[in-house]
Amino acid sequence: MNGATDDHQFGPMPPWRAVVAATVRAAYAWSKRHEQPGAMREAARMTGVVMAAHGPGKGPVTPAELAEALHRPLGELPCLKDCPETEAAEMILLENGQLTAAVYDLACEYSAPLGEAIGRAAWLPTWTRMRADQIRQEAYTAMIATGRQEDYVASRKFLIEHPAGQFDTLREQLSKEGARLAPYGYEEIPEDQLHRDQNSQAWWFPCPVCRWPMAVTGDLVRCRYRPHSASYRIRRRPASARPALDRVDAGPRIATPKAALAAGARCVNAGIWRFVVVPGAAELRLYRALDKPGVEVQLWPGADSYDLHVKVGRHEYKADLKEYQSIGRLVDHLTTTRPTAEVVLPVTHEHQLSALENAVPHGVRVTTETRFRTRILNLRRRTNP
Ligand SMILES: [Zn+2]
Repeated sequence: MNGATDDHQFGPMPPWRAVVAATVRAAYAWSKRHEQPGAMREAARMTGVVMAAHGPGKGPVTPAELAEALHRPLGELPCLKDCPETEAAEMILLENGQLTAAVYDLACEYSAPLGEAIGRAAWLPTWTRMRADQIRQEAYTAMIATGRQEDYVASRKFLIEHPAGQFDTLREQLSKEGARLAPYGYEEIPEDQLHRDQNSQAWWFPCPVCRWPMAVTGDLVRCRYRPHSASYRIRRRPASARPALDRVDAGPRIATPKAALAAGARCVNAGIWRFVVVPGAAELRLYRALDKPGVEVQLWPGADSYDLHVKVGRHEYKADLKEYQSIGRLVDHLTTTRPTAEVVLPVTHEHQLSALENAVPHGVRVTTETRFRTRILNLRRRTNP
């Protein structure tokens, strides 16, 4: 999933984009106002950005008024009345003062730096203040330090396959596999991704798709990324027993995650998870499906110019998986970057195909993970009878 050149225009962004980015930051700050000393000031700064877009006398004028507005669809803000992206206009960022699931899987695609004048509070997580491509770039810089493609691939694969775990074990595996850690490495698992049992022992549950600790809300457990849709309830058990999960949604069957002890465990931060690990799960899935005798398949050739290079006999294909929740953001990205590889929608996003085919710039080819895989495997059968 090429991120290096994502949205590479550093020039001024359209006013509606700055407002959406400011509301994402304001919502995060508001949700942390009781625990984070700088949070109210940040919410006030972001209210200022929104007020500047409205002009005098229109829209919310205090952080509390803005927070109230963020409990309703963003498109109800006067300055977003004509927001060109319906996904953005429909987003609700807060519910009972807390961030909604939409913030992590959709709103973060709209995050952007808002200029030096607005300052950068160190406590604000990267996903609220940086573009996705900047987060990826920062993670990849350490990985490409040796200049060897195999080091880069090993490091990126490691991060995708181990977004959480016992820190001692992770450290051992890291040095064994020669992987290079992202600069900020692993962090403590956030409290809202932990379950505390009757003995106050803390546990976490890996998402069955991305392996990052799922969010825990009361006794409900689910990945923050909504396309990873398996949902669970924590089973009532005797105080001494390890917590266990029961599936509560009707999605396709998948192995039930096991509880792991939080003591000594760490995970990658939400920005790395959302923009490296989540898309990486799809990239590795397609790679493994194609990595068969008779198919030469290479991951992230040329350090992230695209995702997969596939060769079957004389035939060569380039695939770049694109996992955007917002079709508008994806079209915008394809327009500014003009991909050289075929754009492939992962299984969770194959429903975007027809909308995307009608909207992509001329000359950009779009397909789905299923179609791409079938094409290559059929070709392999014909080429290697
Ligand atoms: Zn997940």
